[in-house]
Amino acid sequence: MKHSEVTELFENHVLQTYGRFPLTFVKGKGQYLWDSEGKRYLDMGGGIAVNILGHAHPDLQKALSEQSQTLWHCSNLYQHPLQGELAEALVHRIGDGKIFFSNSGAESNEGLYKLARRYGHAEGRHEIITFKQSFHGRTLAGIAATGQAKVQEGFGPLVSGFQHAVFNDLRSVEERISPSTAAVMLEGIQGEGGIHPATPEFLLGLRELCDTHQLLLLWDGVQCGHYRTGFFQSFQSLLHHQEADTSFLPDAISMAKSLGGGFPIGAFWVRQPFSTLLGPGSHGTTYGGNPLACSVASRILQLIQEQSLDQNALKMGSRLQEGLQKLQLQFPDKIDEVRGMGLMLGIVLRNDGATDSAPSMALVKSLHQEGMLTIPSGTHVVRFLPALNIQPHEVDEALHLLEHTLSKH
Ligand SMILES: *Cc1c(COP(=O)(O)O)cnc(C)c1O
Repeated sequence: MKHSEVTELFENHVLQTYGRFPLTFVKGKGQYLWDSEGKRYLDMGGGIAVNILGHAHPDLQKALSEQSQTLWHCSNLYQHPLQGELAEALVHRIGDGKIFFSNSGAESNEGLYKLARRYGHAEGRHEIITFKQSFHGRTLAGIAATGQAKVQEGFGPLVSGFQHAVFNDLRSVEERISPSTAAVMLEGIQGEGGIHPATPEFLLGLRELCDTHQLLLLWDGVQCGHYRTGFFQSFQSLLHHQEADTSFLPDAISMAKSLGGGFPIGAFWVRQPFSTLLGPGSHGTTYGGNPLACSVASRILQLIQEQSLDQNALKMGSRLQEGLQKLQLQFPDKIDEVRGMGLMLGIVLRNDGATDSAPSMALVKSLHQEGMLTIPSGTHVVRFLPALNIQPHEVDEALHLLEHTLSKH
């Protein structure tokens, strides 16, 4: 089918909730996607941190097709081995606790809000402190948690009980704690907000603050998790050098995006002391922990371990980051800053003349012409969230395409 025909179908039949780029993709393999005209693109966006092993990975194809021969769906009224095994693998990577499976990031975060409400209920505490520029998903509670006015516009009255503090600013959190506060929730690295990593000092301070005030510390690891920073969760990367190593652990962690590598699945982990708050009848889902999704998610974790892709994420992350920093020196009038960790990186762009109010969109579109996909984050940041199995020559190709684009941009 031609691009124009697909465009017509979308215009006529798909709700126009996205400002979509005029691209129609029909095929993927490894780090590349092909559009309907046969043009090839290097995928440095990874479907927004989803395609963690690239496209059409043979081992994931095998896991999915093998599972499809035996059991597709099994109601959560019953149990099946794959859900138990995946839960064990996730707990093993975080700490003592239990897992609930969902289908997406927003849904996983809903679980965290419900956990916080249950936790504070007996004492009449229900408020959750989140952060400005955060992003937690598009459900009604998700947009109230999200610290960006543009996702809330026209949807009021918002779900009550969310306060927004300044990220990496303990004082700002402290000021918002009241007798109604039950929890604090943050992303380890703010993704949609423009690649802002939480600092180790902030995390350690938050943990202390939460302990002092008996608040749950809720972690949105939907975008920054799953070895993107070299460790399963980004706090493990940030704090492993410090003596305080073992003293930081959130009370709940949400996951999705990379978890299924493109097969929809989400999850949240609840730390052991709080794992009975959501008891029988308190929460549920039809599809969560589906056998097909669990088979793919488990295989991803095995492959990351077998092929040391956590190490690869670190190595390729450094290579990409160093390359981007060189480009910053080469184009100081265009690149203001390079931010992020591992394979979650962003370049902050400078305004290019008075008319250019969203330089990130302009660059992302120019890169499409060159045959590379990146993800804008707000008006000034362009994100790189490639697969963890990316190879040096592909990182170099990305840098080359970026350099070429910047030099004529
Ligand atoms: C993408 C994202 C979500 C929402 O996930 P969905 O699967 O789109 O519902 C939530 N939190 C963060 C940090 C995200 O990046």
